[in-house]
Amino acid sequence: MRPVTCSVVLLVAMLAGPSSGIAQSGAPDAKLIEDLVAANRILFDQGVVDGFGHISVRHDKDPNRYLLARNVAPALVKAEDIMEFDLDSNAIDLRDRRIYLERFIHGEIYKLRPDVKAVIHSHSPSVIPFGAARAKLQPIYHMSAFLGTDVPVFEIRDVAGSATDLLVRDKALGQALAKTLGHHPVALMRGHGSVTVGNSIPQVVFRAVYAEMNAKLQADAMRLGSVTFLTPEEAAKAAETIDGQVMRPWELWKRKAMKAE
Ligand SMILES: [Zn+2]
Repeated sequence: MRPVTCSVVLLVAMLAGPSSGIAQSGAPDAKLIEDLVAANRILFDQGVVDGFGHISVRHDKDPNRYLLARNVAPALVKAEDIMEFDLDSNAIDLRDRRIYLERFIHGEIYKLRPDVKAVIHSHSPSVIPFGAARAKLQPIYHMSAFLGTDVPVFEIRDVAGSATDLLVRDKALGQALAKTLGHHPVALMRGHGSVTVGNSIPQVVFRAVYAEMNAKLQADAMRLGSVTFLTPEEAAKAAETIDGQVMRPWELWKRKAMKAE
């Protein structure tokens, strides 16, 4: 039996090619890829991303890798567009494909946060003002309780001065952003967008959708006068309850987004 097993392994390694990394780490679960593709479509369908923005997931067989689409608009992502990256954000099997400039956001967060399994970077429009104005993004209702009462803001000028293009285009900037995020689920990026993390694809999608929703509702409420936000205690309790419910909207959003194809 043994020689047969060895030659099968060898054959798989040869087919995978010397640089694909598949032979060393094993291919990711097909369901994980399917969910990542669905998440790309959902984020577009729910208005979190447009032609820009991306979502990644940590590799289920190798925690030192993550999966992210090649450089393509999220609504167009297919299973064959998903690529593997190491935590320094090098593509394992680049070939002639273009990759996202801001992939370092993902790699550096996975390095710093072993609990994080999925990351979204977006320019979701209602959130942008809260990264630029004095008003702090705070949970206005139970659905966005996960935000907590202290959402950090990443100021790229503190790290790279005032003459950047605002993009997180290298490891040093990715690391600085990951540090600003700290233990939080969301960090705003002044003049640019936001980053959201979670322990699964459905959870991170839920958070990105409701962060956008909260920002919209908060701006509406602020136009009406002074606003009462959730207390830290309310936020903690509501976040715990709602976190058990993330699969309900996920199923709905997935069905709708995949139908729209
Ligand atoms: Zn960006």
